Amino acid sequence: MNILDLLFPKKCVGCNKLGAYFCPGCISNILQAELVCPGCERPSIGGVTHPVCRRKFGLDGLWSLGVYSGSLRSAIQKIKYRYIKELAEDLVDITLEYWAKSGTFLLDEIKKNYGKDWVVVPVPLHWTRKNSRGFNQSSLFAKVFADRLGLDYSEALKRHKMTSSQVGLDSQKRRQNIKNTFSLTMNHELITNNTILVDDVWTTGSTLKECCYVLKRNGAKKVWSLTLAR
Ligand SMILES: [Zn+2]
Ligand SMILES: [Zn+2]
Repeated sequence: MNILDLLFPKKCVGCNKLGAYFCPGCISNILQAELVCPGCERPSIGGVTHPVCRRKFGLDGLWSLGVYSGSLRSAIQKIKYRYIKELAEDLVDITLEYWAKSGTFLLDEIKKNYGKDWVVVPVPLHWTRKNSRGFNQSSLFAKVFADRLGLDYSEALKRHKMTSSQVGLDSQKRRQNIKNTFSLTMNHELITNNTILVDDVWTTGSTLKECCYVLKRNGAKKVWSLTLAR
């Protein structure tokens, strides 16, 4: 045990038990979300976008670890305001263990060319928000995820507009609210590849859909959305 563990003992985000950020019981309590098509949010095998829901600049699929409740929700809220790399690693490992056990369409896609044609891109925060927190939780997840799978990582997108709160808006208003919010950064050389777009939570999907639109308008081939919760 190192000294930091003594000074700041790890507690389970779900039940406060000492020893780890996620105890085995709380891991098994994560409710697996049924995979859905990002277009219509109806069930879809592997989270692949239904053929009838395909749009020219739309998402190709959506994979989420679980339902936004219980220990998963606590973990996501905790990491939003405090940089805890180990907790991000735990969440990514839980995702990858699940993939290893049950397989998923997205993993099969990534493995096709040994991951060489995929790049992992986080959904960006506006710089003012990033400064007040000091980090972007989606970048933290995206980096750990890219590291674990040996994929390229790129902060290809930036948020150049502060969006007003999305709370209370219906999906069409959310879409309008988020329009023209994102653009490419100077690090966009990799986006002609397939992209895994990482965010913490899928709510209405308007943010992820808008990011996908910008990436595809600029040459990205496939764009999959990966979120911890939905
Ligand atoms: Zn626990
Ligand atoms: Zn659909």
